[in-house]
Amino acid sequence: MEKTSKKSAELISIGTELLLGNILNTNAKYISEKLSQMGIDVYYQTTVGDNPDRLERALELAKSRADIIITTGGLGPTYDDLSKETIARNFGRKLVMHEPSRARIEGFFKKIKREMTPNNLKQALMPEGSVIFENKMGTAPGCAVEDDNGKIAIMLPGPPREMTTMFENSVVDYLSQFCDSIIASKTIYTAGIGESTLEDRLYDMMTTSTNPTIAPYAKEGECILRVTAKCKTKEEAERLIDEAIEKVRERVGDYIYGVDVGTIENAIVKLLKEKGLRAAFAESCTGGLIAKRITDIPGASDVFGMGVVAYSNEAKMKLLGVDEAIIKEHGAVSEECAISMAKGIYEASGADFGLAVTGVAGPGQSEQKPAGLVYIALYDGTEVKTRKLNISYTVREMVRLITANYALDMLRRAAQMR
Ligand code: ATP
Ligand code: MG
Repeated sequence: MEKTSKKSAELISIGTELLLGNILNTNAKYISEKLSQMGIDVYYQTTVGDNPDRLERALELAKSRADIIITTGGLGPTYDDLSKETIARNFGRKLVMHEPSRARIEGFFKKIKREMTPNNLKQALMPEGSVIFENKMGTAPGCAVEDDNGKIAIMLPGPPREMTTMFENSVVDYLSQFCDSIIASKTIYTAGIGESTLEDRLYDMMTTSTNPTIAPYAKEGECILRVTAKCKTKEEAERLIDEAIEKVRERVGDYIYGVDVGTIENAIVKLLKEKGLRAAFAESCTGGLIAKRITDIPGASDVFGMGVVAYSNEAKMKLLGVDEAIIKEHGAVSEECAISMAKGIYEASGADFGLAVTGVAGPGQSEQKPAGLVYIALYDGTEVKTRKLNISYTVREMVRLITANYALDMLRRAAQMR
């Protein structure tokens, strides 16, 4: 959920580690991106060390050129965590004990059965009159405080996990008072369809729709569509987006593997799990990439138990039972070989699907076959499906990536039919 406004903001990242180059300032990237999506202008980002004098100077400068100042870092319990003290003083607010936060911090230490050192309670001292943001990932709460001139300081913790969770859970809502409309978006993920075909089928929708807008955006080897709406309320925006997604489905529905799902491997692991199905892979040109991508997903062990990288002809024969005659007659990069590999891994694994790929990853050709020529086969115990690809990229990595995408998509379609 995102909004638009006329207020401007300035970011102050606090931490000596940032100045020394020990850590990358990912907080600034995250917050700037969020604010830009909400329509809040960011004209300056500053980084200062854990030093009250220099922080105070940065605050003075920020107040002179922005309405909202967002800081990260220095909310913790240790002596060098001085952000809140410095900002509260600069904003003319004294610190008072915030009882709910004190109770949460004490409760946290009880739960982890560790004795709480007294300095921890300083984390619950908050500027008087501030809005408190609960820290669901740590102990130090964040807050927003306003000075007598209406300038606002929003203080967030330094650890990215704590900061981003707080931002999503509380800060977006807090900032929405400065915004007059919502920008929301959903992402449609497709596979097995080229960018130009996708555009061709949706051309009129892409070029004429203004609210929501439908825009393709490139991700390596995949076509993704972003549907974005700008409305008074989140509900209205979601309604417009969902209507547009339905229309997109009517035209290219069978290429869509999910909305807001992230990756195809994510979608597949979820789908196989739901249906109680398992898959096994026999990979030549992808060298294990398919198995790698599936096992990147937590919970993969429920749906995947075995993969074989059979790169040489010998491995294809020994491990997957591919007949030597097939290789002699058709070559290792052939539909016949792919089918035999799929059947081999199906038998060996006892899974519901055997998926096999064999091809020329390039850049050079082999067996007198061009780089980018790939055969995929999927066997489910009764039926074999095959697909031949002529991938126009000659970069090895891209051929592998695209091959894996197509193979995973074949698996997704077959699993969906079950
Ligand atoms: P803590 O309670 O852990 O002390 P804090 O709010 O006091 O949190 P800092 O002490 O300033 O925050 O930073 C804690 C850690 O958070 C840093 O060691 C660093 O790993 C990470 N961190 C801080 N600021 C940033 C930033 N701008 N970008 C990315 N990581 C950051
Ligand atoms: Mg700290």
